[in-house]
Amino acid sequence: MPIYEYRCETCNDDFETLVIGSQEVSCPKCGGPVHKLMSCCSFKSAGGDFKTSGGGKSSCGSCSSASCASCH
Ligand SMILES: [Zn+2]
Repeated sequence: MPIYEYRCETCNDDFETLVIGSQEVSCPKCGGPVHKLMSCCSFKSAGGDFKTSGGGKSSCGSCSSASCASCH
Protein backbone atom coordinates (compact mmCIF):
# COMPACT_ATOMS: atom_id res chain seq x y z
CA MET A 1 0.00 0.00 0.00
CA PRO A 2 1.60 3.28 -1.06
CA ILE A 3 1.30 5.71 1.80
CA TYR A 4 2.81 9.13 1.19
CA GLU A 5 3.41 12.11 3.41
CA TYR A 6 2.10 15.46 2.26
CA ARG A 7 2.24 19.04 3.43
CA CYS A 8 -0.52 21.54 2.85
CA GLU A 9 0.64 24.66 1.03
CA THR A 10 -2.08 26.72 2.69
CA CYS A 11 -1.97 25.77 6.38
CA ASN A 12 1.34 23.81 6.44
CA ASP A 13 -0.34 20.80 7.98
CA ASP A 14 1.53 17.54 7.53
CA PHE A 15 -0.45 14.38 6.97
CA GLU A 16 -0.08 10.92 5.54
CA THR A 17 -2.51 9.41 3.11
CA LEU A 18 -2.94 6.35 1.01
CA VAL A 19 -2.71 7.20 -2.67
CA ILE A 20 -4.05 4.89 -5.34
CA GLY A 21 -2.98 5.55 -8.90
CA SER A 22 -3.06 9.20 -9.90
CA GLN A 23 -5.62 10.14 -7.29
CA GLU A 24 -5.46 13.79 -6.40
CA VAL A 25 -4.75 14.71 -2.81
CA SER A 26 -5.94 17.77 -0.98
CA CYS A 27 -5.58 18.97 2.58
CA PRO A 28 -7.95 17.16 4.99
CA LYS A 29 -8.27 20.31 7.07
CA CYS A 30 -8.72 23.12 4.57
CA GLY A 31 -8.92 21.34 1.21
CA GLY A 32 -6.00 23.36 -0.10
CA PRO A 33 -3.26 22.24 -2.47
CA VAL A 34 -0.57 19.93 -1.09
CA HIS A 35 2.86 18.75 -2.13
CA LYS A 36 4.44 15.40 -1.46
CA LEU A 37 7.21 15.12 1.12
CA MET A 38 10.08 12.72 1.00
CA SER A 39 10.03 10.10 3.72
CA CYS A 40 11.85 11.34 6.78
CA CYS A 41 14.42 8.56 6.59
CA SER A 42 15.57 9.41 3.09
CA PHE A 43 15.54 13.09 3.97
CA LYS A 44 17.85 12.59 6.92
CA SER A 45 20.22 10.27 5.07
CA ALA A 46 20.47 12.85 2.30
CA GLY A 47 21.57 15.37 4.91
CA GLY A 48 24.49 13.14 5.76
CA ASP A 49 23.81 13.15 9.48
CA PHE A 50 21.77 9.99 9.69
CA LYS A 51 23.21 6.89 8.04
CA THR A 52 21.79 3.49 8.66
CA SER A 53 24.44 0.83 8.86
CA GLY A 54 23.59 -1.69 6.19
CA GLY A 55 20.31 -1.91 4.34
CA GLY A 56 18.72 1.39 5.20
CA LYS A 57 15.70 0.44 3.18
CA SER A 58 14.52 -2.07 5.76
CA SER A 59 14.28 0.55 8.48
CA CYS A 60 12.61 2.96 6.09
CA GLY A 61 9.83 0.45 5.50
CA SER A 62 8.32 0.94 8.92
CA CYS A 63 9.10 4.63 8.85
CA SER A 64 6.38 5.33 6.30
CA SER A 65 3.72 4.72 8.90
CA ALA A 66 3.27 5.64 12.56
CA SER A 67 6.88 5.18 13.65
CA CYS A 68 7.89 7.99 11.32
CA ALA A 69 7.09 10.46 14.08
CA SER A 70 10.00 9.14 16.15
CA CYS A 71 12.44 10.30 13.48
CA HIS A 72 11.62 13.96 13.94
ZN1 LIG B 1 -4.52 22.90 4.79
